[in-house]
Amino acid sequence: MNFTKFARRQYLQGPTPIESMPSLSKVLGGEVNLYVKRDDLLPGAGGGNKTRKLEFCIGDALGKGADTIITCGAVQSNHARLTASWAAKEGLDCHLVLEERVKGSYKETASGNNFLFELLGVKSLGVVEAGSDMMAKMEEKAEELKSAGKKPYIVPGGASNAIGATGYAVCAEETMTQLNNMMLDIDHIIVPSGSAGTHAGMVVGMTGVNANIPISGVNVSRPKIVQEEIVYKLALEVAERLGIKGGITREEIVCFDEYVGPGYSLPTKSMVEAVKLFAQTEAILLDPVYSGKAAAGLIDLVRKDHFSKNSNVLFLHTGGSPALYAYMDTFRQG
Ligand SMILES: *Cc1c(COP(=O)(O)O)cnc(C)c1O
Repeated sequence: MNFTKFARRQYLQGPTPIESMPSLSKVLGGEVNLYVKRDDLLPGAGGGNKTRKLEFCIGDALGKGADTIITCGAVQSNHARLTASWAAKEGLDCHLVLEERVKGSYKETASGNNFLFELLGVKSLGVVEAGSDMMAKMEEKAEELKSAGKKPYIVPGGASNAIGATGYAVCAEETMTQLNNMMLDIDHIIVPSGSAGTHAGMVVGMTGVNANIPISGVNVSRPKIVQEEIVYKLALEVAERLGIKGGITREEIVCFDEYVGPGYSLPTKSMVEAVKLFAQTEAILLDPVYSGKAAAGLIDLVRKDHFSKNSNVLFLHTGGSPALYAYMDTFRQG
Protein backbone atom coordinates (compact mmCIF):
# COMPACT_ATOMS: atom_id res chain seq x y z
CA MET A 1 0.00 0.00 0.00
CA ASN A 2 1.09 3.55 -0.65
CA PHE A 3 0.81 5.90 2.32
CA THR A 4 3.11 8.61 0.95
CA LYS A 5 0.28 10.75 -0.40
CA PHE A 6 -1.01 11.62 3.05
CA ALA A 7 0.18 14.20 5.55
CA ARG A 8 1.83 12.27 8.38
CA ARG A 9 4.14 12.65 11.34
CA GLN A 10 6.54 9.86 12.16
CA TYR A 11 5.99 8.78 15.77
CA LEU A 12 7.15 5.15 15.53
CA GLN A 13 10.78 4.14 15.91
CA GLY A 14 10.10 0.88 14.08
CA PRO A 15 7.64 -2.02 14.18
CA THR A 16 6.15 -3.01 17.55
CA PRO A 17 7.16 -6.55 18.60
CA ILE A 18 5.17 -9.71 17.90
CA GLU A 19 5.71 -12.08 20.81
CA SER A 20 4.75 -15.65 21.53
CA MET A 21 2.68 -16.22 24.71
CA PRO A 22 3.66 -19.81 25.63
CA SER A 23 2.69 -19.65 29.32
CA LEU A 24 -0.75 -18.22 28.67
CA SER A 25 -1.30 -20.73 25.84
CA LYS A 26 -0.36 -23.56 28.22
CA VAL A 27 -2.66 -22.36 31.01
CA LEU A 28 -5.51 -22.30 28.48
CA GLY A 29 -4.99 -25.94 27.54
CA GLY A 30 -2.10 -25.77 25.07
CA GLU A 31 -4.17 -26.52 21.96
CA VAL A 32 -4.00 -23.00 20.53
CA ASN A 33 -0.76 -21.04 20.16
CA LEU A 34 -1.30 -17.45 21.23
CA TYR A 35 0.77 -14.51 20.00
CA VAL A 36 0.56 -10.84 20.80
CA LYS A 37 1.29 -7.73 18.74
CA ARG A 38 2.59 -5.24 21.31
CA ASP A 39 0.97 -1.95 20.30
CA ASP A 40 0.82 -1.23 24.02
CA LEU A 41 4.54 -0.48 23.58
CA LEU A 42 4.00 2.26 20.98
CA PRO A 43 5.68 5.58 21.77
CA GLY A 44 3.68 8.44 23.32
CA ALA A 45 3.25 8.87 27.08
CA GLY A 46 1.76 5.64 28.46
CA GLY A 47 1.71 3.87 25.06
CA GLY A 48 -1.20 2.44 23.10
CA ASN A 49 -2.97 2.36 19.78
CA LYS A 50 -3.92 6.01 19.27
CA THR A 51 -0.31 6.93 18.41
CA ARG A 52 -0.61 5.22 14.99
CA LYS A 53 -3.78 7.16 14.21
CA LEU A 54 -2.36 10.44 15.48
CA GLU A 55 0.57 10.20 13.05
CA PHE A 56 -1.99 10.97 10.34
CA CYS A 57 -4.41 13.21 12.28
CA ILE A 58 -1.73 15.49 13.69
CA GLY A 59 0.07 15.40 10.33
CA ASP A 60 -3.15 16.67 8.77
CA ALA A 61 -3.57 19.31 11.49
CA LEU A 62 -0.04 20.65 11.00
CA GLY A 63 -0.51 20.62 7.22
CA LYS A 64 -3.54 22.86 7.72
CA GLY A 65 -1.63 25.31 9.91
CA ALA A 66 -3.26 24.38 13.23
CA ASP A 67 -1.71 25.50 16.51
CA THR A 68 -4.30 23.84 18.75
CA ILE A 69 -5.83 20.36 18.94
CA ILE A 70 -9.29 19.69 20.34
CA THR A 71 -10.42 16.14 20.96
CA CYS A 72 -12.91 14.19 23.04
CA GLY A 73 -13.24 10.92 24.91
CA ALA A 74 -14.50 9.22 28.05
CA VAL A 75 -13.28 10.36 31.48
CA GLN A 76 -10.39 7.85 31.46
CA SER A 77 -9.73 8.16 27.72
CA ASN A 78 -6.42 6.76 26.47
CA HIS A 79 -7.04 8.62 23.24
CA ALA A 80 -7.29 11.94 25.09
CA ARG A 81 -4.06 11.09 26.96
CA LEU A 82 -2.16 10.27 23.76
CA THR A 83 -3.52 13.32 21.94
CA ALA A 84 -2.36 15.48 24.86
CA SER A 85 0.96 13.66 24.71
CA TRP A 86 1.67 14.25 21.01
CA ALA A 87 0.31 17.79 21.19
CA ALA A 88 2.82 18.50 23.97
CA LYS A 89 5.62 17.00 21.89
CA GLU A 90 4.63 19.05 18.82
CA GLY A 91 4.24 22.29 20.78
CA LEU A 92 0.49 22.46 20.11
CA ASP A 93 -2.17 23.48 22.64
CA CYS A 94 -4.56 20.69 23.58
CA HIS A 95 -8.16 21.02 24.78
CA LEU A 96 -10.27 18.06 25.89
CA VAL A 97 -14.02 17.52 26.01
CA LEU A 98 -14.78 14.49 28.18
CA GLU A 99 -18.06 12.59 28.20
CA GLU A 100 -19.20 11.31 31.56
CA ARG A 101 -20.61 8.09 30.02
CA VAL A 102 -21.17 6.59 33.45
CA LYS A 103 -22.95 9.12 35.70
CA GLY A 104 -20.75 10.29 38.56
CA SER A 105 -17.63 8.71 37.05
CA TYR A 106 -15.72 11.98 36.59
CA LYS A 107 -13.57 12.92 39.55
CA GLU A 108 -11.19 15.81 39.25
CA THR A 109 -8.75 14.06 41.54
CA ALA A 110 -8.96 10.64 39.84
CA SER A 111 -5.80 8.70 39.06
CA GLY A 112 -4.96 6.94 35.79
CA ASN A 113 -5.32 8.88 32.56
CA ASN A 114 -7.18 11.70 34.31
CA PHE A 115 -4.05 12.54 36.28
CA LEU A 116 -1.95 12.35 33.12
CA PHE A 117 -4.15 14.89 31.25
CA GLU A 118 -3.12 17.41 33.89
CA LEU A 119 0.52 16.35 33.89
CA LEU A 120 0.71 16.60 30.09
CA GLY A 121 -0.45 20.18 30.33
CA VAL A 122 -3.85 20.24 28.64
CA LYS A 123 -5.12 23.81 28.33
CA SER A 124 -8.71 23.00 29.25
CA LEU A 125 -10.83 20.04 30.20
CA GLY A 126 -14.60 20.27 29.84
CA VAL A 127 -16.84 17.51 31.16
CA VAL A 128 -20.21 16.98 29.45
CA GLU A 129 -23.02 14.58 30.24
CA ALA A 130 -23.56 11.17 28.65
CA GLY A 131 -25.15 11.24 25.23
CA SER A 132 -23.97 14.79 24.43
CA ASP A 133 -23.24 15.60 20.79
CA MET A 134 -19.46 15.52 21.20
CA MET A 135 -18.72 16.99 17.76
CA ALA A 136 -21.03 19.93 18.51
CA LYS A 137 -19.33 20.46 21.88
CA MET A 138 -15.89 20.43 20.23
CA GLU A 139 -17.07 22.84 17.54
CA GLU A 140 -18.29 25.22 20.24
CA LYS A 141 -14.83 25.09 21.81
CA ALA A 142 -13.24 25.65 18.40
CA GLU A 143 -15.34 28.79 17.82
CA GLU A 144 -14.35 30.13 21.22
CA LEU A 145 -10.65 29.51 20.47
CA LYS A 146 -10.92 31.02 16.99
CA SER A 147 -12.29 34.26 18.40
CA ALA A 148 -9.26 34.29 20.70
CA GLY A 149 -7.03 34.13 17.58
CA LYS A 150 -6.17 30.42 17.72
CA LYS A 151 -6.16 27.93 14.83
CA PRO A 152 -7.89 24.86 16.27
CA TYR A 153 -8.14 21.43 14.63
CA ILE A 154 -10.67 18.84 15.80
CA VAL A 155 -9.60 15.19 16.08
CA PRO A 156 -12.77 13.08 16.36
CA GLY A 157 -13.27 10.61 19.24
CA GLY A 158 -10.68 7.83 19.16
CA ALA A 159 -9.19 9.47 16.03
CA SER A 160 -11.52 7.08 14.24
CA ASN A 161 -12.14 8.78 10.94
CA ALA A 162 -10.61 7.60 7.65
CA ILE A 163 -7.53 9.77 8.32
CA GLY A 164 -6.78 8.18 11.71
CA ALA A 165 -7.79 4.64 10.77
CA THR A 166 -5.17 4.76 8.00
CA GLY A 167 -2.68 4.25 10.84
CA TYR A 168 -4.09 0.76 11.36
CA ALA A 169 -3.82 -0.10 7.66
CA VAL A 170 -0.13 0.72 8.21
CA CYS A 171 -0.14 -1.62 11.22
CA ALA A 172 -1.64 -4.43 9.13
CA GLU A 173 1.09 -4.11 6.52
CA GLU A 174 3.76 -3.93 9.22
CA THR A 175 2.31 -7.04 10.89
CA MET A 176 2.21 -9.04 7.65
CA THR A 177 5.84 -8.15 6.88
CA GLN A 178 6.85 -9.33 10.38
CA LEU A 179 4.88 -12.58 10.02
CA ASN A 180 6.56 -13.28 6.69
CA ASN A 181 9.99 -12.61 8.17
CA MET A 182 9.19 -14.82 11.17
CA MET A 183 7.64 -17.46 8.86
CA LEU A 184 4.72 -17.42 11.29
CA ASP A 185 1.42 -18.58 9.79
CA ILE A 186 -1.34 -16.83 11.75
CA ASP A 187 -4.85 -18.30 11.38
CA HIS A 188 -6.85 -15.62 13.14
CA ILE A 189 -6.41 -12.09 14.52
CA ILE A 190 -8.39 -10.70 17.48
CA VAL A 191 -8.68 -6.94 17.98
CA PRO A 192 -10.62 -4.73 20.40
CA SER A 193 -13.43 -2.85 18.63
CA GLY A 194 -14.31 0.51 20.18
CA SER A 195 -14.54 3.69 18.12
CA ALA A 196 -13.75 1.29 15.25
CA GLY A 197 -10.66 2.80 13.62
CA THR A 198 -8.37 0.01 14.78
CA HIS A 199 -10.66 -2.77 13.58
CA ALA A 200 -11.55 -1.04 10.30
CA GLY A 201 -7.93 -0.09 9.53
CA MET A 202 -6.68 -3.63 10.23
CA VAL A 203 -9.29 -5.21 7.95
CA VAL A 204 -8.54 -2.77 5.13
CA GLY A 205 -4.77 -3.11 5.53
CA MET A 206 -4.87 -6.90 5.62
CA THR A 207 -6.99 -6.82 2.46
CA GLY A 208 -4.53 -4.36 0.93
CA VAL A 209 -1.65 -6.80 1.41
CA ASN A 210 -3.79 -9.80 0.43
CA ALA A 211 -3.12 -11.54 3.76
CA ASN A 212 -6.23 -13.74 3.84
CA ILE A 213 -6.25 -13.80 7.64
CA PRO A 214 -9.68 -13.46 9.25
CA ILE A 215 -10.00 -10.69 11.85
CA SER A 216 -12.56 -10.59 14.65
CA GLY A 217 -13.34 -7.62 16.83
CA VAL A 218 -14.34 -7.82 20.48
CA ASN A 219 -16.76 -5.02 21.36
CA VAL A 220 -16.31 -2.81 24.40
CA SER A 221 -19.72 -1.10 24.33
CA ARG A 222 -22.14 -1.69 21.47
CA PRO A 223 -24.25 -4.65 20.34
CA LYS A 224 -22.78 -6.84 17.59
CA ILE A 225 -24.75 -5.63 14.56
CA VAL A 226 -24.52 -1.94 15.49
CA GLN A 227 -20.74 -2.18 15.89
CA GLU A 228 -20.28 -4.23 12.71
CA GLU A 229 -22.12 -1.58 10.69
CA ILE A 230 -19.94 1.19 12.18
CA VAL A 231 -16.74 -0.74 11.42
CA TYR A 232 -17.95 -1.60 7.92
CA LYS A 233 -18.84 1.99 7.04
CA LEU A 234 -15.45 3.24 8.23
CA ALA A 235 -13.64 0.38 6.45
CA LEU A 236 -15.29 1.39 3.16
CA GLU A 237 -14.07 4.97 3.65
CA VAL A 238 -10.52 3.85 4.46
CA ALA A 239 -10.49 1.42 1.50
CA GLU A 240 -11.61 4.25 -0.78
CA ARG A 241 -8.94 6.58 0.61
CA LEU A 242 -6.23 3.98 0.02
CA GLY A 243 -7.59 2.86 -3.34
CA ILE A 244 -7.93 -0.79 -2.28
CA LYS A 245 -8.90 -2.86 -5.33
CA GLY A 246 -11.93 -5.09 -4.87
CA GLY A 247 -12.98 -3.33 -1.68
CA ILE A 248 -14.26 -4.79 1.57
CA THR A 249 -17.26 -7.07 1.99
CA ARG A 250 -19.71 -6.86 4.87
CA GLU A 251 -19.00 -10.51 5.79
CA GLU A 252 -15.38 -9.69 6.58
CA ILE A 253 -16.51 -7.52 9.49
CA VAL A 254 -17.16 -9.76 12.48
CA CYS A 255 -17.71 -8.62 16.08
CA PHE A 256 -18.37 -10.39 19.37
CA ASP A 257 -20.47 -8.52 21.92
CA GLU A 258 -20.62 -11.14 24.68
CA TYR A 259 -17.81 -9.57 26.70
CA VAL A 260 -19.12 -6.02 27.15
CA GLY A 261 -20.88 -6.83 30.43
CA PRO A 262 -23.09 -4.10 31.93
CA GLY A 263 -21.60 -1.43 29.67
CA TYR A 264 -18.66 0.64 28.50
CA SER A 265 -15.86 0.86 31.09
CA LEU A 266 -17.83 -1.16 33.67
CA PRO A 267 -15.81 -4.07 35.06
CA THR A 268 -16.69 -7.71 34.37
CA LYS A 269 -15.46 -10.88 36.08
CA SER A 270 -13.97 -12.17 32.84
CA MET A 271 -12.08 -8.88 32.31
CA VAL A 272 -10.59 -9.11 35.81
CA GLU A 273 -9.57 -12.72 35.14
CA ALA A 274 -8.03 -11.80 31.77
CA VAL A 275 -6.03 -8.89 33.20
CA LYS A 276 -4.71 -11.12 36.00
CA LEU A 277 -3.91 -14.02 33.66
CA PHE A 278 -1.94 -11.88 31.21
CA ALA A 279 -0.05 -10.25 34.09
CA GLN A 280 0.71 -13.49 35.90
CA THR A 281 1.62 -15.67 32.90
CA GLU A 282 3.20 -13.24 30.42
CA ALA A 283 3.91 -10.13 32.52
CA ILE A 284 1.79 -8.12 30.10
CA LEU A 285 -0.41 -5.34 31.47
CA LEU A 286 -3.83 -5.02 29.85
CA ASP A 287 -6.43 -2.40 30.71
CA PRO A 288 -9.92 -2.64 32.25
CA VAL A 289 -11.88 -0.94 29.44
CA TYR A 290 -10.51 -2.24 26.13
CA SER A 291 -7.70 -4.79 25.99
CA GLY A 292 -8.94 -6.52 29.17
CA LYS A 293 -12.39 -7.14 27.72
CA ALA A 294 -10.95 -8.09 24.33
CA ALA A 295 -8.61 -10.55 26.05
CA ALA A 296 -11.57 -11.96 28.00
CA GLY A 297 -13.11 -12.64 24.59
CA LEU A 298 -9.91 -14.25 23.31
CA ILE A 299 -9.69 -16.49 26.39
CA ASP A 300 -13.33 -17.54 26.18
CA LEU A 301 -13.05 -18.30 22.45
CA VAL A 302 -10.01 -20.50 23.14
CA ARG A 303 -11.88 -22.33 25.92
CA LYS A 304 -14.93 -22.80 23.70
CA ASP A 305 -12.75 -24.36 20.95
CA HIS A 306 -13.68 -21.58 18.55
CA PHE A 307 -10.21 -21.89 17.00
CA SER A 308 -9.14 -25.22 15.52
CA LYS A 309 -6.55 -27.36 17.27
CA ASN A 310 -2.92 -26.18 16.82
CA SER A 311 -4.00 -22.92 15.24
CA ASN A 312 -1.98 -19.74 15.71
CA VAL A 313 -3.95 -16.77 17.00
CA LEU A 314 -2.61 -13.21 17.17
CA PHE A 315 -4.02 -10.78 19.74
CA LEU A 316 -3.57 -7.09 19.00
CA HIS A 317 -2.73 -5.46 22.33
CA THR A 318 -3.87 -1.87 21.97
CA GLY A 319 -2.54 -0.68 25.35
CA GLY A 320 -4.38 1.32 27.98
CA SER A 321 -2.56 0.17 31.11
CA PRO A 322 -2.49 3.67 32.71
CA ALA A 323 -6.24 3.23 33.30
CA LEU A 324 -5.46 0.27 35.60
CA TYR A 325 -4.54 2.71 38.35
CA ALA A 326 -8.05 4.13 38.34
CA TYR A 327 -9.45 0.61 38.96
CA MET A 328 -7.27 -0.74 41.76
CA ASP A 329 -10.26 -1.56 43.98
CA THR A 330 -11.82 -3.68 41.24
CA PHE A 331 -8.74 -5.88 41.03
CA ARG A 332 -8.23 -6.10 44.78
CA GLN A 333 -11.80 -7.23 45.26
CA GLY A 334 -11.96 -9.42 42.13
C1 LIG B 1 -9.19 3.39 21.89
C2 LIG B 1 -8.71 2.10 22.39
C3 LIG B 1 -9.11 0.89 21.81
C4 LIG B 1 -10.12 0.80 20.72
O1 LIG B 1 -9.66 1.22 19.47
P1 LIG B 1 -10.69 1.87 18.49
O2 LIG B 1 -9.89 2.23 17.33
O3 LIG B 1 -11.29 3.03 19.22
O4 LIG B 1 -11.73 0.85 18.19
C5 LIG B 1 -8.58 -0.28 22.28
N1 LIG B 1 -7.71 -0.29 23.31
C6 LIG B 1 -7.31 0.83 23.91
C7 LIG B 1 -6.37 0.73 25.02
C8 LIG B 1 -7.80 2.07 23.48
O5 LIG B 1 -7.41 3.18 24.10
